[in-house]
Amino acid sequence: MSYVPVIDHAACLAHGDCEQLAPEVFRLGETAEVVGQAPVELLVKVASACPSGAISVIDDASGEQLYP
Ligand code: SF4
Repeated sequence: MSYVPVIDHAACLAHGDCEQLAPEVFRLGETAEVVGQAPVELLVKVASACPSGAISVIDDASGEQLYP
């Protein structure tokens, strides 16, 4: 099973916490972009650290939301 992060670009305030925690997954432009993959534990850790609650983690195959 593969999980992917999804950014709510309207909610992202571009503070960059996600890029600092997982630069292999997130890159900051005007808002954060997803640029890579990581284990689901790290994706949830970063999503829970986002001060804007702008990161969801979903099951890539089913679209089911794991976090939040
Ligand atoms: S941590 Fe959240 S608010 Fe900050 S850049 Fe990443 S997605 Fe945007």
